[in-house]
Amino acid sequence: MKRLVLFDLDGVLLHSQENMRQAWDVVLRKTAVNRPFEDYFALIGRPFKDIMAHLGVNQDIERIEKIYMTASFDFLAQATFFPGVRDALAQIRDSGVKMGVVTSKDAPRTKAVLAQLDIRFATIQSPNDKFRGKPAPDHVLIAMAEAGEDPADTLFVGDMETDWQAACRAGVDYAHAGWGYGEPIKSVHTLHSISELPNHIL
Ligand SMILES: [Mg+2]
Repeated sequence: MKRLVLFDLDGVLLHSQENMRQAWDVVLRKTAVNRPFEDYFALIGRPFKDIMAHLGVNQDIERIEKIYMTASFDFLAQATFFPGVRDALAQIRDSGVKMGVVTSKDAPRTKAVLAQLDIRFATIQSPNDKFRGKPAPDHVLIAMAEAGEDPADTLFVGDMETDWQAACRAGVDYAHAGWGYGEPIKSVHTLHSISELPNHIL
């Protein structure tokens, strides 16, 4: 039995693809960026600045990020939790297992989203300038430290290869959200629905 479950947010708890598409459309309209949404979306899971570097966008990053974040915040109501998320989290909470979030979404949007859930998270990690983002293990390690739990007692649930890499590098077990935005990962336990999660950890 695990004592702490860490979730990625987008593609695991939150169905935010349409929100991202709309925010990216605003970036395309207001900046010189011309890469299609699909190119951006293929890289999500990493901090925004890292995605821009991968796309070869190396000018005006802060302005572009601000435009994207502001637009995404404006459209945030269109992002909804995947079916079964509220029930699964309530079941885990009632069993006494702690929960946390390790996301590449910035702190203001993450807090606004998580405030809609009736869950007290032991730790919430968003990118900052001090530590490396996923696939580096930094925020997974900090999350465990904040929650007061060991790697052996922790499970990470993600949907992108970057999540799996961060979990491996932090020394924690990983379960793949099959309903998310990433490709399946070979030889990794895949959950087909979040309703399978309580049985998987309890
Ligand atoms: Mg994700």
